[in-house]
Amino acid sequence: MATARQRDRAVTGHEEFRRQVRAWLAGNVPADGLPDPDTDAGFRAHRDWERRLYDAGYSGISWPVEYGGRGGDVLHEAIFAEEYERAAGPVRITRPVQRFLGPTLIHYGSAEQHHSWLPAMLRADDIWCQGFSEPDAGSDLAGVRTRARCDGTRYVVDGQKTWTTYGRFADWMFTLVRTGEPGGRHRGLSCLVIDLHSPGVRVRPVRQLHGQTGFAEVFFDSVAVPAGNLVGPRDEGWRVALTLLSFERGPDAGAPERTRRRLDALAGDVREAGAAPGVVRELGDGYARLAALRAYVHRRVGTRLHGEPVGAESSLVKLFSARLDTDIVQLGVDLFGDERLAERAPEFLDYWHSRAGSVYGGTTEIQRNVVADRILGLPR
Ligand SMILES: Cc1cc2nc3c(=O)[nH]c(=O)nc-3n(C[C@H](O)[C@H](O)[C@H](O)COP(=O)(O)OP(=O)(O)OC[C@H]3O[C@@H](n4cnc5c(N)ncnc54)[C@H](O)[C@@H]3O)c2cc1C
Repeated sequence: MATARQRDRAVTGHEEFRRQVRAWLAGNVPADGLPDPDTDAGFRAHRDWERRLYDAGYSGISWPVEYGGRGGDVLHEAIFAEEYERAAGPVRITRPVQRFLGPTLIHYGSAEQHHSWLPAMLRADDIWCQGFSEPDAGSDLAGVRTRARCDGTRYVVDGQKTWTTYGRFADWMFTLVRTGEPGGRHRGLSCLVIDLHSPGVRVRPVRQLHGQTGFAEVFFDSVAVPAGNLVGPRDEGWRVALTLLSFERGPDAGAPERTRRRLDALAGDVREAGAAPGVVRELGDGYARLAALRAYVHRRVGTRLHGEPVGAESSLVKLFSARLDTDIVQLGVDLFGDERLAERAPEFLDYWHSRAGSVYGGTTEIQRNVVADRILGLPR
């Protein structure tokens, strides 16, 4: 029988849900935003915000209710993402959890793993990060060298991960490690969850060009991990990893609204400064491409709602969206110069971050390879 808490969180019809979300966000999104999550104080503020969202029932919208989610469908999830971006909600430190770590655990995890990990990750009581990339394994994850040797009841892990988002603050890492023969490429990989407070783990923040330390390198020196932390079958981690990547590359229903805000801000600056006809044309082109992106995202959400898997088409959405964002921000830089952007910190960070969109979750070249191979059927 449903508990009172579960009943309170029950999802309504889609339009009613949109009205509820919009009203809640209007009354709760911090008007001045939150401090940068890369700082200690900023991260704490973001964690508090995640708990407010969770307590109000706005976290894990499509996750099962027994793990703290809202029990909605893909369309509820998309509505929330759209409204959240429309209301300019703060960046989500649980984004990796919500978009791909949680869904992968729901898909492959055991009942025990579900109960011990999912609710705490959703409420940001435990911070999770993704440990796939290594110095010699990025686009080509078959190059993973971090080794996990099983000695019966536990794995002993040695190696290094890099580019770990929120690694500095994380409690747990979802890793891809080598349990089979070295050099086995896609064979002999496994997914293992590692407690980052274990002896032998060292986390080193990476300072980036703009001064932030959003990434970390994580080193493992004979780290003991219980065998029960294996997710999916041993040596078949590649299959788990592909599922995770398909969630990660899936259509982000909030993306068009995020882009719309960027474009509106630029249009406002252009209006103020007085616009040359060529610039107005470029802005118009941006709005036309935005309309196409929105239509395409809606179509993908629709097909997922009807049970289709995420699939290769998500690579098209990511390609289109990353390119549009880069072009908008570049237009701003061309018009107003780096200095002005540097003075206005949020846009400055936006500039760098728009570039990252062509790298994380699979680079532009890799997405093009996917489109060529799996959609167009071109020869390799
Ligand atoms: C903002 C951000 C957050 C990230 N967060 C995480 C995280 O939390 N956890 C994590 O594990 N990783 C994370 N990453 C790392 C990210 O997944 C990798 O950077 C990405 O997969 C590319 O790998 P790489 O950097 O090693 O580049 P490489 O794979 O070395 O690629 C270098 C260049 O070669 C091109 N290239 C490579 N292979 C091919 C090919 N077959 N055909 C054509 N071109 C090719 C690439 O497109 C790229 O231009 C993050 C990255 C960014 C930017």
